[in-house]
Amino acid sequence: MMARLPLAYNGPMGHHDNPLLTLTDSGLYCKPGDFFIDPWRPVDRAIITHAHADHLAWGCSEYLVARDGLAVTRARLGETATIATLPYGESFDKNGVKVSLHPAGHILGSAQVRVEHLGRVWVASGDYKVEPDATCAAFEPVRCHLFISESTFGLPIYRWRPQREVFADMAAWWRANRDAGRSSIVYAYALGKAQRILAGLAAAIGDDPPGPILAHGAVEAMNRAYRDSGIALPTTTHATEAGGPTARSGALIVAPPSAHGTPWTRRFAPASTAFASGWMRIRGTRRRRSVDRGFVLSDHADWPGLLAAIDATGAEAVWLTHGYTAVVARWLAERGREAHAVATRYEGEGERDESPGAEATDRAAATGEGEVIHKPADASRSVPEGEAPSQPRGEAPTEPRPPRNQTASVGSWIRSDGQGHGDRGDA
Ligand SMILES: [Zn+2]
Repeated sequence: MMARLPLAYNGPMGHHDNPLLTLTDSGLYCKPGDFFIDPWRPVDRAIITHAHADHLAWGCSEYLVARDGLAVTRARLGETATIATLPYGESFDKNGVKVSLHPAGHILGSAQVRVEHLGRVWVASGDYKVEPDATCAAFEPVRCHLFISESTFGLPIYRWRPQREVFADMAAWWRANRDAGRSSIVYAYALGKAQRILAGLAAAIGDDPPGPILAHGAVEAMNRAYRDSGIALPTTTHATEAGGPTARSGALIVAPPSAHGTPWTRRFAPASTAFASGWMRIRGTRRRRSVDRGFVLSDHADWPGLLAAIDATGAEAVWLTHGYTAVVARWLAERGREAHAVATRYEGEGERDESPGAEATDRAAATGEGEVIHKPADASRSVPEGEAPSQPRGEAPTEPRPPRNQTASVGSWIRSDGQGHGDRGDA
């Protein structure tokens, strides 16, 4: 049942006789349209579902992202990358393949990629969640014949509480720490989760915050990209510019998981620490991370959310790309749906927050402050219980790449009918 290579599979439904997307060494490839979706190696043309590092490879000649995702993608790839954008719901034709992007509800600019060719419709979800999120467009079900879904939290134990309860808990934790003379450090992904927390806390707290909000450099860079995109966030201060202990008194500090256990955090002592992740559903994970609190908050669909989202597509066939792929595939197959786990390099909600952009930002934040951000050797590789360690990320460069694609052209994507528009990030 576990078809690892879709190409090798020839099912009765005809999805694979002339597949619209195939899995290659570089990632999901659309042969008739000659483009990749979220490749993990540099390719000529890449449609990117969202700007998390496991979906956004460096070094592609041309990128296409949802228009909402331009600023965050630019922040991750740098000024030299060639990035075209397409508003949600608009389409263009590439070699007879109709391409459109639809909100995935995962982070700002996250998109499902819909491809249509000769009457067949396939949708690649990237990462998604179905819960509303004040910092990005809401997930939109897209009808299709074949749905390529994530399944990061594809186990029945994963059911998220209403997020307003989680934000209320977090606000109470912050207040209690302030009253006890401690600062509050919450570890969250620099891109997406951190901004969702900021917006959620602002709504939970209203006009009387317990203290200032300080952000690690990697988080602050993404805050800037969100604000540049028109997303309202509460006021934050770059943590290392926040003056002395008085300015940090009662503060909430938002930092990426990679900052946990590093010298960077010492300036905020005494502090209570927390990690915000779907994995906090599992007590052992919290213990392993040795933080004081775990807030169960994920930007991925929980078990009911996954099943509802898959159902809403009406798809005859489903591929599961990452997470508990085998479990979800079996569950679907037992209910009469064609379903296969496919091997990709996506990680879903890993416990790392590494990307070229984030690391560069960390380095930049450290430079000039006589301080180096050390990544904990092991904490960043810990995996949830019962889950195999994720695969290596491929070739994330350790040094900045030389400039490439400095031409103002938006590339060969969208020339066919002029829809969509390129953007070099200076608009
Ligand atoms: Zn993601």
